[in-house]
Amino acid sequence: MRWGIGLILMLLLPLAQAAELRDVRVWDAPDSTRVVLDVSNAAKSHVFTLTKPDRVVIDLDGIDAAGVRKANQTEAKGIVRNVRAGVHGDGVRIVLDVDEPVTTNAFDLAPNDDYGNRVVVDLGRKTVVDNAAVGASAATATPQSAPQSVTAPVLPGTGRLQDKQIVIAVDAGHGGEDPGAHGPSGLLEKNVSLAIARKLALLINTQPNMRAVLTRDGDYYVGLRQRVEIARKQQADMFVSIHCNAFTKRDMHGTAVYVLSDRGVNTEQARWLANRENAADLVGGVELQGKDNDLATVLLDLSQSATMEASFDVGSRILHSMGEINTLQRRDVQQAAFVVLKAPDIPSVLVETAFITNPHEEKLLGSDDYQGKLASGILDGVKGYFHGYRPRQQIVDKEAPHLQQVSASAGGGSLQDAAFSN
Ligand SMILES: [Zn+2]
Repeated sequence: MRWGIGLILMLLLPLAQAAELRDVRVWDAPDSTRVVLDVSNAAKSHVFTLTKPDRVVIDLDGIDAAGVRKANQTEAKGIVRNVRAGVHGDGVRIVLDVDEPVTTNAFDLAPNDDYGNRVVVDLGRKTVVDNAAVGASAATATPQSAPQSVTAPVLPGTGRLQDKQIVIAVDAGHGGEDPGAHGPSGLLEKNVSLAIARKLALLINTQPNMRAVLTRDGDYYVGLRQRVEIARKQQADMFVSIHCNAFTKRDMHGTAVYVLSDRGVNTEQARWLANRENAADLVGGVELQGKDNDLATVLLDLSQSATMEASFDVGSRILHSMGEINTLQRRDVQQAAFVVLKAPDIPSVLVETAFITNPHEEKLLGSDDYQGKLASGILDGVKGYFHGYRPRQQIVDKEAPHLQQVSASAGGGSLQDAAFSN
């Protein structure tokens, strides 16, 4: 009998052991704020909102009471004005005081290289900020901002070619809960990609008739497909995604430029890399998954072939100008199935600036001066493309109707010369 009780206690013990709340992180994005709870084991959570005043309540079941102190130390950011916590049942209740009514989306994340089990609560603003109205920086974009017309309307017979502004979507890889690759001395890809992207955006904005749109302008997560959506809403003429390469072998080095592949890849490393970069979407939560069928259909669209031709063109120009700055990992434009390159109508390239896993290149990537060189190398390639090449089909599709005749007689490319003539 005594043995029997002992067995029952042994079986119950793991259930009775409370999980720990190890950390609470808050990430601030333009239209949303993400709250991440690090827990030692997968924990059951219940999230609801209260009004007057607006609050979000997160109940975590089976969490050790020591988590209360941890939660109370959380630095509030974004929509979250204050974080307070107390013991609730056998767990912890966390109350977020928020500035305005919010939508909530809660989900669990499994452990990865950087973090353990997490409960994620995304808080969305119900009143979406109109970025055009804020308008402080031309190089910022909000993930959920309404579609905006970025070009001045060209009326038939009155428009001048110089009025057509070229919009470049500059995409800083990773962000927020997704740090990307790590350098041997701790440099994070998300910080390097943002620094280079901001420098590139500034350079673009000093060009006549060119404007940059950043898909993220801060340390927060933006889903891969959401990045493409931002570019499309802003009617971008080109999409440039900026990353740092990584591999298990530390001596691997050099710059590489990628365009989309819907079939095979050139090398095993390209396959490895695409898996790694696409895994960024795992931190987006369940709502972003299961949309691949649409994309597969879209990829069959005929317009894709013109876009691919253009992507290869700008890719090889960027590769050429980057060859002046760094050694090249490969002399040709590489292909891999990056989700972020899947806009069927926007020429898209992904630049792996250098290997953050290589100690020498990590040092370079961390330097302000070198980041500037990489940005100007990318700009040179982009400018070369708009100066010398643009598929005729795109011109016919995109320009105002009265320009079609001009493009048909002048041939691809010459229209865009106007962008650099003044
Ligand atoms: Zn990356």
